[in-house]
Amino acid sequence: MLLDPFIKNDPKTPAKFKDLSQYKPATILLTHAHGDHVGDAVAIAKASNAKVIGVFDHLKSLGLPKGAAMGGDPGGKFKIGDVTVHIVPAMHSSSPGGRPLGFVIEFADGRSIYDTGDTWIFGDMSLIQEIHSPNIILLQTGGGPYNQDPKTAALAIRKYFKPDVVIPMHYGTWGILAGEDEVKAMLSGTTGIKFMQPGDTASF
Ligand SMILES: [Zn+2]
Repeated sequence: MLLDPFIKNDPKTPAKFKDLSQYKPATILLTHAHGDHVGDAVAIAKASNAKVIGVFDHLKSLGLPKGAAMGGDPGGKFKIGDVTVHIVPAMHSSSPGGRPLGFVIEFADGRSIYDTGDTWIFGDMSLIQEIHSPNIILLQTGGGPYNQDPKTAALAIRKYFKPDVVIPMHYGTWGILAGEDEVKAMLSGTTGIKFMQPGDTASF
């Protein structure tokens, strides 16, 4: 499964990961229509026959191979093998196409990952916790003009969630976003915090 595969044009992607032919996902998840999220999704889907899960109105416009698009909206879910992908809201924009999403990816053992997508903190995060109790959270911390800053991201975890692991994302790529030092300063006190670098792997 690939989430928002913005690979070739991301200045932080290690060189050995830029060759798209190495990616053979069963599924690609797209949180919204912005270029730094859709990225290489269409090229990878065409080459790999992957299904693409995203917002219904956006996927229609991507020119995906026939049968690849699995469009939904908040509250919807899809089963991929023994994994269930639940679509949840996000507070952002998604032009041209649809609305922004988050995903809760639920595994056969009952554990789950919540990918917040691009978002500001919002009160319905309490419902995401009540319904899904995610164990691992991929947390938007980018700040700048577009997203919640690292301090607000830390508040979202304290206020709404009880995860085992929190992985900050979407920072330190360009000067417009929060830098690594700021993210570490604001989130190092968060329970379960785990900082990762592009190319890192981890088991949970
Ligand atoms: Zn965005």
